[in-house]
Amino acid sequence: MRNDRHALFAAHAYLPQGWRRDVLLEWNDEGILEAVTPGVAAPAGVGHADGPIVPGMPNLHSHAFQRAMAGLAEYRAHASENFWSWRDLMYRFAARITPERLEAIARWLYVEMLKAGYTSVCEFHYVHHAQDGSRYANAAELGQRVVDAAAQAGIGMTMLPVLYQYSGFGKREPRPDQRRFLNTPESLLDLLLTLRRERPANGALAYGVAPHSLRAVSEASLRALLHGLDAHLPGAPIHIHIAEQTGEVDECVAATGRRPVAWLLDRFDVGARWCLVHATHVDEAEAAALAASGAVAGLCPTTEANLGDGLFPARRYLDSNGCIGIGSDSHVAVDWRAELRLLEYGQRLMLRQRNVLASEARPQVADRLFHAALAGGARASGRAVGALAPGCRADWLILDVAHPSLHGREPGDWLSGIVFCEHGGTPIAEVHTGGRRVVHEGRHEDEDEAYAAYREAVAQLKA
Ligand code: ZN
Repeated sequence: MRNDRHALFAAHAYLPQGWRRDVLLEWNDEGILEAVTPGVAAPAGVGHADGPIVPGMPNLHSHAFQRAMAGLAEYRAHASENFWSWRDLMYRFAARITPERLEAIARWLYVEMLKAGYTSVCEFHYVHHAQDGSRYANAAELGQRVVDAAAQAGIGMTMLPVLYQYSGFGKREPRPDQRRFLNTPESLLDLLLTLRRERPANGALAYGVAPHSLRAVSEASLRALLHGLDAHLPGAPIHIHIAEQTGEVDECVAATGRRPVAWLLDRFDVGARWCLVHATHVDEAEAAALAASGAVAGLCPTTEANLGDGLFPARRYLDSNGCIGIGSDSHVAVDWRAELRLLEYGQRLMLRQRNVLASEARPQVADRLFHAALAGGARASGRAVGALAPGCRADWLILDVAHPSLHGREPGDWLSGIVFCEHGGTPIAEVHTGGRRVVHEGRHEDEDEAYAAYREAVAQLKA
């Protein structure tokens, strides 16, 4: 039976068709929207939102533990710093992660995500084993800690245990500092099934897999993984790092004769359940084929800028109806607004034009990118999220139109104010997930406790 705590009235809400007036949202005990009705009078006894409502943003790419090293690699130690020198530092950091530290870091990270308006996250989880590479008594110990952190913070999750087998193309022997990551397709599927048994999927939790990259798996092991996945979780999401670095593109060409995206599309049935993270280096033919496949290009602009990766040809890809979503990846920034802004600014700087990623149908850049990232993020997460529509998770943000970035603006300019203006504080006043308010007046309900545990974990990592 529905009661009045399961309904909310908003003077303005961003529906799949755009902004609508006088919208009634109704959801059930499982946190799923049952009805979204625009143009109605506010029913008696139903609460009114304090501002306009927009869907919460799905974050399609996260490595939770990396949050604790954000800002620690911004100095020059060698004549030439690049992704690979950053990775050495990240590996040293990964070696010091314990189950308790990981849970504390992830919990705080997810609090930060919720405050920023991310209401779900795809966790590309690759640190699986103890420091010496041996298995924990519960093989899924670390993944379980991350799932628990998400549940505590109140963020939706798609958990993607990562298959990492080799250190390079041609089944190159793994390095000693990769031993915490290593599995076979069989042991990774075991780990996934253990995790799913201990923490069953529910309205806030789904599962998939992530072959780490073409350099870290072989064609045969990727086939074995996907075969096993379909036996247990048919249709579940598949995420892979694909073409972040020109170095890995060159190695892929040397090993296979093809570029990574072309090779993958050629050999595997890549469709809407796939997310190609960092499809940064694609040529024109690859971009067109990727767009036509229905797979999501997973873009992480602040991390890609931080690591000096390069720029994705976003205009051509979007104009071919390609699907995109955004992720915070290394968490140097935890802010979807910054990701969308930098996505557009990278194109502006490269092409020396303005409003590059607008379209005829959506002339406001922020509107087009927000709409695209909601749809792509939802597709990549394999969960019904990213829209204020019946059947979707009741995840939304309530905006503060008195914030200096939004004050005096018409509804049609609110998303531009949110994405392109940065004037301190946050214009996101409230965040609700599964119909429950977790952030109020910009503060998360467990903020103090989660931050204390995070500070303790960082102190131990530094010791
Ligand atoms: Zn990544």
